[in-house]
Amino acid sequence: MRAVTFQAPGVVSVEERPEPELIEPEDAIVRIEATGVCGSDLHIYHGRVQIEPGFTIGHEYVGTVVAVGEAVTRVAVGDRVLGCFHTACGTCFFCRRGDYHRCVQSRTFGHGATLGSLQGTQADMALVPRANIVLRRVPEGMSSDVALFAGDVMGTGFHAVVESDFEPGDVVAVLGLGPVGLCAVQAARALGAAHVLAIDSVPERLDVAASFGAEAVHLAEQDVRAIARGATEGRGVDVCIDAVGDPKALDSAIRLTRACGSIQCVGVYAERADVHMGLLWLKTLTLRGGQANVIAHVDRVLALLAAGVLDPTALVTRHMKLEDAPEAYAVYDRREALKIVLTP
Ligand SMILES: [Zn+2]
Ligand SMILES: [Zn+2]
Repeated sequence: MRAVTFQAPGVVSVEERPEPELIEPEDAIVRIEATGVCGSDLHIYHGRVQIEPGFTIGHEYVGTVVAVGEAVTRVAVGDRVLGCFHTACGTCFFCRRGDYHRCVQSRTFGHGATLGSLQGTQADMALVPRANIVLRRVPEGMSSDVALFAGDVMGTGFHAVVESDFEPGDVVAVLGLGPVGLCAVQAARALGAAHVLAIDSVPERLDVAASFGAEAVHLAEQDVRAIARGATEGRGVDVCIDAVGDPKALDSAIRLTRACGSIQCVGVYAERADVHMGLLWLKTLTLRGGQANVIAHVDRVLALLAAGVLDPTALVTRHMKLEDAPEAYAVYDRREALKIVLTP
């Protein structure tokens, strides 16, 4: 079978690989129908996240189950499924609390030895461990473009909202309108935000946010703080979602959020950051962050996608063939697409 593999910073290639085989009783094998290229794949592409040359990348996927181990009960051969981007054991301390994203045995697809040596899904077929927890049947009639958002990007946008102190009627600001930020905009609207400020400096992304019902705010050309105050009788926003992962965004979030409000960092932080702790303390802000608990939310996200309440279709701006993956990565790196879906 064919697989998209990391070779060196800036180089991916499509290589022949042996087809995966069942190893554990909870394994399934999925023939891939569609697989997304994600911002975190770009970290690998650039060598910022280091993986072994030759490792298969990708972690967003929809396909058909072609084999299952004897302990797999929730999906069967022939089922059309989508999967979450990482696995969880279901039995450790964290899984028993529902904190699947902190599972001590978690493995992430397509991220090399440091995240569990689990080959990625940008391939003709993929091995899916812990299939009872990781896979879900695709609801009748749902396109693969929509379904593959449930196990990663929309799951993360949804998590950003529901795992903050958000309540219906709140005013929410979203900083950074990549696919996760745009999904957070949609989730906030769907869950009852009175008003959503969508903040970025890329006109096309602001347009998509506006089409999702948000007020688009240009980071450089408009006075973001004045707009946030204007929307909240001078208080500042109730919830601010940082979908950038940069200290400058976090600093803005601390300033935009009202006293006793909450900040949710879903953008990725890997370094020490200089934050105005005094302001955070004086304003009694709640600060949360970390990888999204996508497995915990996937059923509700799927239900909202199936009902059309959440609809990320507008985010898929390119479809390309699996064998054109090297070009797809170059296109994505030039920010010429919001989400590229590869089809084998
Ligand atoms: Zn992803
Ligand atoms: Zn676990």
